[in-house]
Amino acid sequence: MAAVTGLLFLMTVSTAAQQDFSKVQIKVTKVSGNIYMLEGAGGNIAASVGDDGIVIVDDQYAPLVEKIQQALKGITDKPVRFIINTHYHGDHTGGNEPFSNSGSTIIAQDNVRKRLESGGSAGNGGSVKMDYPAAPKAALPIITFANDVTVHLNGEDIRALHFPSGHTDGDSIIFFPKNNVVHMGDDFVRYGFPFIDVASGGSVQGMIEAMEKVMALLPPDVKVIPGHGAISNLDDVRAFVKMLKETSAVVQKAIDRRQTLAQMKQAKILAPWEKFSGSFINSDAFIETLYNSLTGQKGKFVKHN
Ligand SMILES: [Zn+2]
Repeated sequence: MAAVTGLLFLMTVSTAAQQDFSKVQIKVTKVSGNIYMLEGAGGNIAASVGDDGIVIVDDQYAPLVEKIQQALKGITDKPVRFIINTHYHGDHTGGNEPFSNSGSTIIAQDNVRKRLESGGSAGNGGSVKMDYPAAPKAALPIITFANDVTVHLNGEDIRALHFPSGHTDGDSIIFFPKNNVVHMGDDFVRYGFPFIDVASGGSVQGMIEAMEKVMALLPPDVKVIPGHGAISNLDDVRAFVKMLKETSAVVQKAIDRRQTLAQMKQAKILAPWEKFSGSFINSDAFIETLYNSLTGQKGKFVKHN
């Protein structure tokens, strides 16, 4: 799972064209009421399906768009009218261009458009670094917003709310209040230590803050769609935030003791959280992430605000 996620992410930003999507199947799961989750490769897709048409959250990879359209046809013949991107990464926005060419309108926070338009580098300010090219015009969100936007379709007020500086500086969390479902984007993932794109304005402090604010807004029985991984509940989010806080505190303590990054890795200071260590973001990469996040070292950082 972690290996797949990491690999896909890496391939997205560097060599997506070479990745073989031919064997990927789109799995459709009914989450609640008229909200579905679609899994293939890349980030989870949420879909609001109803008489007014389809609104989806994120769109995986361009070569999967036909399969995604096909899977949605299994639920309704109505078109995908709107796509909301949770953030700019290619495993969540790769389908933008073909979807937009077939008539869908892309919506995202201002910084998503800026980063897609410019291209650049994603990374944790350390060993995880991935360059990505500027996206073609058709892949860019047509409607952007600074703080929040609401799409009134299918009898629901689908709301995208921006949280600054979590996974990236352009994150939105998407609420489906009537159906009691939320899509967290990559501010909450299930593949272990999260990738925090410090090079694109992300930070662990911002990720914790976003999750705490969101948890305060949500009913206790809300169904949570993570950026990656299985449908979850608020207890899962709470456990994730607990890990983020505990590991941040340990790294902050080491910083306060003037330990270097190399010393922290050598002392394996995140050993108690080893079960979160994955092949994409292992313990050492997460120490780097936390260190860079807490000391404000972002590598070659381009601010988009
Ligand atoms: Zn991401």
